[in-house]
Amino acid sequence: MEKFIYDMHTHIFPQKIAEKAVSSIGGFYGIPMVKKGFSEDLIESGSEIGVDKYLVCSTATTPLQVTAINSFVSGEVSRHPEFIGFGTMHPGFDDICGEVDRITKIGLVGIKLHPDFQKFAIDDREAYPIYEAAEGRLPILFHTGDKRYSYSNPERVLKILKDFPKLTCICAHLGGYSEWESVVALKGYLGNPNIYFDTSSSIRFIDPKESVDIIRAHGVEHVFWGTDYPMQNHTAELEDFMKLDLTDTERNMIFRENAVRFIGEVKAKLAGK
Ligand SMILES: [Zn+2]
Repeated sequence: MEKFIYDMHTHIFPQKIAEKAVSSIGGFYGIPMVKKGFSEDLIESGSEIGVDKYLVCSTATTPLQVTAINSFVSGEVSRHPEFIGFGTMHPGFDDICGEVDRITKIGLVGIKLHPDFQKFAIDDREAYPIYEAAEGRLPILFHTGDKRYSYSNPERVLKILKDFPKLTCICAHLGGYSEWESVVALKGYLGNPNIYFDTSSSIRFIDPKESVDIIRAHGVEHVFWGTDYPMQNHTAELEDFMKLDLTDTERNMIFRENAVRFIGEVKAKLAGK
């Protein structure tokens, strides 16, 4: 099968702890996890639908896990040329600046933060050193939205962008899982040039027309395709996406072209070009 899709939202764990990690995430969301959560299983699942590249990450729920997870993701990236690695960080970590430097040296090209798992609000002052270290250098992939919590509300992203105008954010789950009304209503959020969305764990929960409206209102060139593996299997996520009434040009942008351009820009910046 011809491979052309970039899956811009996946999670991997070391094989020996994958089962436990995956079932605890499933418990958090009350959703059965369908896949196993380690690199080989991810590649097998993605290959079935023609995925070419995978943005992989993992979240540190305590400061103590940060360096080990970053080293693990970096190791997986060097073993699997199809991986694009994002590091983790935690507001309670001692040497944020030093670890962000190390992230760039070990081949990772962004930072993934999950405020609801990590229990900090996106605009908490304690998280600011992360944004200071990342601004103009590394994009931050935020889990955004969850009606049950207020840590990852979309409006908090706008607040930090006021203080860090050169920060690039990928706001996962079409800008705010289970808070899509706020995504649409929030002034300055849709269409914000510093904000990218991904389609993971979102389009299967809302009406296809609502998804298309959000994607177009935000700007198709700022949307990536993603599965949230191991929450979802690739075939089902693709089926849901294909129900959206988008043009072939729009689909190609979301499947691949936007990601190629975006990752290329990040790498050029890191190389000092
Ligand atoms: Zn995620």
